[in-house]
Amino acid sequence: MNKREFLKTSMIFGAGAVLTPHLATSCMNTAGANGVTASLVSTDSTGKFVQPELGYAFDALEPHIDAMTMEFHYTKHHAGYTSKFNAALESENLHSTDIYKIFAQISNYSDGVRNNGGGYYNHNLFWKFMSPEGGGEPAGKVAAAINETFGSFAKFKDLFSATAGSVFGSGWAWLILNDTGNLQVVSTPNQDNPLMDVSDVYGKPLLNIDVWEHAYYLKYQNQRTSYIEAYWNVIDWNFVEALYQEAIA
Ligand code: MN
Repeated sequence: MNKREFLKTSMIFGAGAVLTPHLATSCMNTAGANGVTASLVSTDSTGKFVQPELGYAFDALEPHIDAMTMEFHYTKHHAGYTSKFNAALESENLHSTDIYKIFAQISNYSDGVRNNGGGYYNHNLFWKFMSPEGGGEPAGKVAAAINETFGSFAKFKDLFSATAGSVFGSGWAWLILNDTGNLQVVSTPNQDNPLMDVSDVYGKPLLNIDVWEHAYYLKYQNQRTSYIEAYWNVIDWNFVEALYQEAIA
């Protein structure tokens, strides 16, 4: 799938979201054949983007990711991106509830929409990539693709860790299915992501890691490498596999 086709697909994905009836509480943007990607984002009855529930307790990832970091990260940082994203859309009189369409045209939007929309979405994903039952190695189709692309899981792990470790300043590292249909490890600065039209490499996210200092400073201080190593103990490979199967479908 080339970039244009992918863009078209993601825009079709989002078109359904507008047609999704707004329920009293919140509604999932359930467009698309498979709901994994669509279910990452929801809006309330007024069209505001909703911060999803964490799905586990703040201390559930101890000792790898500490409770205080999780609480601040979720209730302050992520909640802040969510409210500022909604505020930016409102102040600019933008009423789209299709975040995939927004990302595909992000170069047309303000820095407020770009930074806070990325911050909102990237963390929605990030919480799902972690689980108290996580860790170990992937299985299934994504494991086969990792072995084929990178040679082995160990080589992929080294590349992903090195990429995350070498992000200058604040940003994210990603495993994506790129627009030529291959797995690729990339990084993005600030709160950008590979769905944005400003990204150097375009693709569907399969895994990410937040390497902003707020993700690790309370427990690991400036030791980003120790935090990255700890992350491997909590990765939910079942969710990675679900995203991969949807991406190649
Ligand atoms: Mn963060």
